[in-house]
Amino acid sequence: MSFDESKFELQKEIKTCDECGSKFYASASKMQSLCPECASILYGYENCDHVFENGRCVKCFWDGSRSEYVREMAHETDKSAEPITLDAKEQIGKNMS
Ligand SMILES: [Zn+2]
Ligand SMILES: [Zn+2]
Repeated sequence: MSFDESKFELQKEIKTCDECGSKFYASASKMQSLCPECASILYGYENCDHVFENGRCVKCFWDGSRSEYVREMAHETDKSAEPITLDAKEQIGKNMS
């Protein structure tokens, strides 16, 4: 694993997301006041490819928080991206019984 820690320290300015209230690395987001997740969902910016460790993304420091508004927006996106297939419905039915 090559990890330039000194470079990383320089980039580690932490900001608070206006939308979800999570902390995030300023350098990881395209927007000053929004974490990559919210910026992506609300404004279509490139999202962070989150890698969660100990409850936070190691890349952008987002903690997985979502405002109700963003959750709804994300839900819409998820639905269109991954419609529940018949197979999945069957699985759910089996798990419930
Ligand atoms: Zn956010
Ligand atoms: Zn991330």
